[in-house]
Amino acid sequence: GTILAIESSCDETSASVVKNGTVLSNIVSTQEVHQKYGGVVPELASRAHQKNILPVVSAALDDAGVEKKDLDAVAFTKGPGLLGALLVGTSFAKGMAMALDIPLIGVNHMQAHILAHFIDDPKPNFPFLCLTVSGGHTQLVVVHSPLNMEIVGETIDDAVGEAFDKTAKIMGLDYPGGPLIDKYAKEGDPLKYEFPNVNIPEYNFSFSGIKTAFLNFLRKESQKDENFVKDNMADLCASIQYTLIKILMKKLIKASKDLNIKEIGIAGGVSANSSLRNTILEEGKKRGWNVFIPEFEHCTDNAAMIAMAAHYQYEGKDFEALNTSPNPRLKFTGSEK
Ligand code: ATP
Ligand code: MG
Ligand code: FE
Repeated sequence: GTILAIESSCDETSASVVKNGTVLSNIVSTQEVHQKYGGVVPELASRAHQKNILPVVSAALDDAGVEKKDLDAVAFTKGPGLLGALLVGTSFAKGMAMALDIPLIGVNHMQAHILAHFIDDPKPNFPFLCLTVSGGHTQLVVVHSPLNMEIVGETIDDAVGEAFDKTAKIMGLDYPGGPLIDKYAKEGDPLKYEFPNVNIPEYNFSFSGIKTAFLNFLRKESQKDENFVKDNMADLCASIQYTLIKILMKKLIKASKDLNIKEIGIAGGVSANSSLRNTILEEGKKRGWNVFIPEFEHCTDNAAMIAMAAHYQYEGKDFEALNTSPNPRLKFTGSEK
């Protein structure tokens, strides 16, 4: 089947075409209006999606060399995400499905982040253990098959992407701060500053304490020296990044050992982080893991991953009623979406 997929859960408007499991196009328009606000402003996100969706969809079809009449289904991100943002993609997809009289497919955004691993070869074998690290989620997921996934651990408070973005904001960096911390950290000493990391049971994570410790530390140091942050930016970035990655790796290693899974992957926006990518490759070499890291463009939000999920759902005839609505808190447990 040939499927058009639309992603609009947060601040990327994206569309992709997949044909029989091969991604033919992936157009991503990143909204820049949020930069100066230090985070995504939901109202502005919805408005930007409305403005971008038609040109982004047209470009995805053009790029794939596919016409609307060739489509067998239309997919959209059903959740989780911002309600107003999700509504734009959902309504657009519904309209197209109705006009073209083709089925509608509702995709779980977090499952799709993981299915980014199935866009390119080599693909992981099952069971596959995936650490999903994004702006809103931090999860350890056992993937039994493309649509049968089980969350074995997750954050009890902030997501790791949020920890990157909030510590960056504390240092006065623009949103999203994750990529900037990655950049400045390259010149810094990861062991210069130490931040406490509380022990959370099982395969769960906690990041809100680190953010507070970081804020308190910077306040104290800045009182003594007002240029403290500016003069130590690289070391601060390297140290906070090192701490965050250490927390992630500890739980990933524990889960891999306990569950005896050596097919290991990372997914979500933070998997674009160069140090996390290197760390997991090194760790994998030591431990005999088969490590999977998506292409950069498939880490942060994109419709190619939605298209991939839609491909599997299409094969299983997992369609959505035309009166469906998005679910900002959509969960997945087991084979459910
Ligand atoms: P979710 O997928 O949980 O709904 P989201 O869709 O907003 O949240 P993504 O687009 O997957 O999240 O990821 C965005 C996050 O990835 C942001 O927190 C951003 O700072 C982070 N990020 C992107 N690139 C990097 C990088 N190189 N280093 C660290 N963090 C990064
Ligand atoms: Mg985003
Ligand atoms: Fe995402």
